[in-house]
Amino acid sequence: MSVDGIDPLRLTARAAKRMLVEGEISAAELIKVYLDQIERVENRVRAFLLVTADNAVRYATEIDREAGAARGALAGLPTAIKDNMVTEGVLTTCASKILANYQPVYTATAVQKLWGDHIVTLGKTNLDEFAMGSSTENSAFFTTHNPWDLATVPGGSSGGSAAAVAAGEALWALGSDTGGSVRQPASLCGVVGMKPTYGTVSRYGLVAFASSLDQIGPLTRSVSDCALLLSRIVGRDAHDSTSVQLPEPIVEPQATRLDGLRFGVPHEYLAQGVQPGVRERFDETLRLIEELGGIVEEMSLPHTEYALPAYYIIAPAEASANLARFDGVRYGYRSAHAGDLIEMYEYTRGEGFGAEVKRRVMIGAYALSSGYYEAYYGQAQRVRTLVRRDFAEAFARYDLLVSPTSPTVAFRIGERVADPLSMYMSDLCTIPANLAGLPALSLPCGLADGLPVGFQIIGPAFSENRILGAAHALEKAIGFSALPTFKDTSAVACGDTGGGMHSSHRASPSDARAEGEGA
Ligand code: GLN
Repeated sequence: MSVDGIDPLRLTARAAKRMLVEGEISAAELIKVYLDQIERVENRVRAFLLVTADNAVRYATEIDREAGAARGALAGLPTAIKDNMVTEGVLTTCASKILANYQPVYTATAVQKLWGDHIVTLGKTNLDEFAMGSSTENSAFFTTHNPWDLATVPGGSSGGSAAAVAAGEALWALGSDTGGSVRQPASLCGVVGMKPTYGTVSRYGLVAFASSLDQIGPLTRSVSDCALLLSRIVGRDAHDSTSVQLPEPIVEPQATRLDGLRFGVPHEYLAQGVQPGVRERFDETLRLIEELGGIVEEMSLPHTEYALPAYYIIAPAEASANLARFDGVRYGYRSAHAGDLIEMYEYTRGEGFGAEVKRRVMIGAYALSSGYYEAYYGQAQRVRTLVRRDFAEAFARYDLLVSPTSPTVAFRIGERVADPLSMYMSDLCTIPANLAGLPALSLPCGLADGLPVGFQIIGPAFSENRILGAAHALEKAIGFSALPTFKDTSAVACGDTGGGMHSSHRASPSDARAEGEGA
């Protein structure tokens, strides 16, 4: 096949790998396909904070010269990385003004592993600042647009990675998921996204948001690609004491049937605000499960209604501690306006953090303060235990649990910005798995109102292969083949001043960098 025959909107990593190994294309030709697509659509999608085109071309050429395609498992595959994973010598901003100039001196373990496999990095993708959000609108730099409708959000916080894969600007990508940030944008952008069991992927070099919840995970165009990418980043890492070895390796999913598998449908996940179109696609997928031999039963996870409020205590509490390190001394931005040390901290953090990050730090500090600790943080941790127990009891009777990934399809840019609670509701179905540390995957299961719907599969700890197998069988049965059209249903969808977005959104990280001078 020639480069001309490659459609970046359809090509999977498995197919690209085969073409590279068989010499049908070179790594340099493949990278060019993606850089060309970036050239074509990036000014509308805005998935990347940084495109490292020169490095990518240079490295791909080197791989070709050294026959690297035959050498490494992923050699030459063009990959995008969420910009909250540190990359040595390459800016890592977390989409925050406070890190707009930050050049890390080391590389996150997950990324290092992929570099060891000779993937080619295309660049760093946009996110909600410090991964706090569900729409990518909290980026300090600009909003990413959903390639299915440029007037809508790509979801978040890994919205840049999801949009890049959906738009054919990357073969696949890494994201991170603290309360749904891989699965929810995967759902809204019509791609596959997986949060593995807590601890299976090292968090070393993932800039910490809420350490007991954060996990790196793949965003891909197929379930098989998801398994491949995940298989290369898992493993115990001496740099992360919470990391663990999976009891069995991740294998290429082959299943086409679901015979005898018991699927539980927690009715609490369907109770609130599920759009009719999402419900229809979900119900159709349940019928497919039965056609493939699976058993579907409605069941209960009784503490579900407390999961979201518990998360919004625990995650901000951990965030308030983790973000204390951004003090103007050790990293990034320092305010030039301060008279003394305390003022320096205050101005630096006041100017460097955006509104949502400040909201989380304040909620977290409050919940952890003496006198309130037991009432909020202690109580939230007890709820977390109840949520875990719900799952433990459920998995005694069911092999997998399924739900819509997100109660709605992609919403319009600006629609939820002024109402943090409605934004928080986007993660109703994804947050419980993080609280319990469980693996979960989102699979495209059709369209509603022309926008993708995600189907979530949750399994017990370390059941990655079971989830991937079931997702593979369903993927084949669903046969989702629609492609994003890059349509724009809003006259101002591409302008960063329109649609009710934050007026503080900047055109690019470098603009903020200029303002951050003096750090
Ligand atoms: N939307 C959730 C939040 O804002 C989850 C974010 C995430 O998973 N990183 O906390």
